[in-house]
Amino acid sequence: MPTVLVAGGSGFIGSFLCKELLAREYSVICVDNFLTSSKENIAELLTNPRFVFIEHDITKEISNSEYPITDIQYVFHLASPASPNDKSPRSYIAYPIETLQANSQGTKNLLDLSLKTKARFLYASTSEVYGDPQMSPQQESYWGNVNPNGVRSVYDEGKRFGEAMTQAYHRKFGVDTRIARIFNTYGPAMQVDDGRVVSNFITEALKNEPLSVYGDGSQTRSFCYVSDLVEGLLSFMFGEGLQGEVINLGNPNEKTILAFAQEIKELTHSSSEIIYQPLPSDDPKKRNPDITKAKQLLKWEPKVTLEEGLRKTIAYFKTKVSYVSL
Ligand code: UDP
Repeated sequence: MPTVLVAGGSGFIGSFLCKELLAREYSVICVDNFLTSSKENIAELLTNPRFVFIEHDITKEISNSEYPITDIQYVFHLASPASPNDKSPRSYIAYPIETLQANSQGTKNLLDLSLKTKARFLYASTSEVYGDPQMSPQQESYWGNVNPNGVRSVYDEGKRFGEAMTQAYHRKFGVDTRIARIFNTYGPAMQVDDGRVVSNFITEALKNEPLSVYGDGSQTRSFCYVSDLVEGLLSFMFGEGLQGEVINLGNPNEKTILAFAQEIKELTHSSSEIIYQPLPSDDPKKRNPDITKAKQLLKWEPKVTLEEGLRKTIAYFKTKVSYVSL
């Protein structure tokens, strides 16, 4: 079976992807420097003979790593901090330069590797390339509304640069590239302290502490369960005739953050009150993927309902958080 390199393979989505690839009999080379991820996510994979782990920072040339990478057929680039919350030690606000570098030099290094090994390359981009969108739902053809130097710019512009670099390698060198724009994703293996709304609300609810809604809670997000998302990534990577494509992957079930807080309260049977805190700057007011393209080209759409996905996520968080049993 072919060998797949997963950069960012010990992260939340990356580790799920590695497990799924191994289950489908691929050999996996996981590359990570644990900047915002944890070793725990891949601990159970280390004994698998088809799994190789390389601790490496992708902003440095991969050929300088101790492990010789010559025979790979697929490269996933998921290596980047991704949480916007400045209260979290794992956010891209805490690592602004590293985030820009992972998506610029890091993307170039992985594209050079793909060029050299003739591997197919998939770049994990983001709904953040749409910024605070002026159209909803967001279609791939929309160019976005991004603050080029605001607090979120290190991620948004980093990802936009990464997309441009990916397309440049496709156009100039004919590398078989794909760009997946990932919308809000949740599930087990999320970092408890990553500061995102799913982890914050579940942790707060389990501890019976107030749920901190930023702003008035009228902003919307659309949450995709990690197994659905990974299924979409695999269909995109292994589908034929998709080189150069840009496709949204996410769940179009849109909710206000206030309604989401209430749903978490109910599912955890929490008596937490809801409190309101200031809205962070440049927080997008709407986010909802148009997945027409994914449905047509990948024959993919999410299957897991929010309730089902949240129940599994809450069960995971219960193993991580010391909580109040109700
Ligand atoms: N949010 C919130 N409380 C929190 C964390 C986030 O109300 O404890 C809001 C945040 O302001 C945003 C939405 O929830 O409007 C989603 O935030 P998240 O950090 O998960 O990611 P984003 O979608 O903004 O990248």
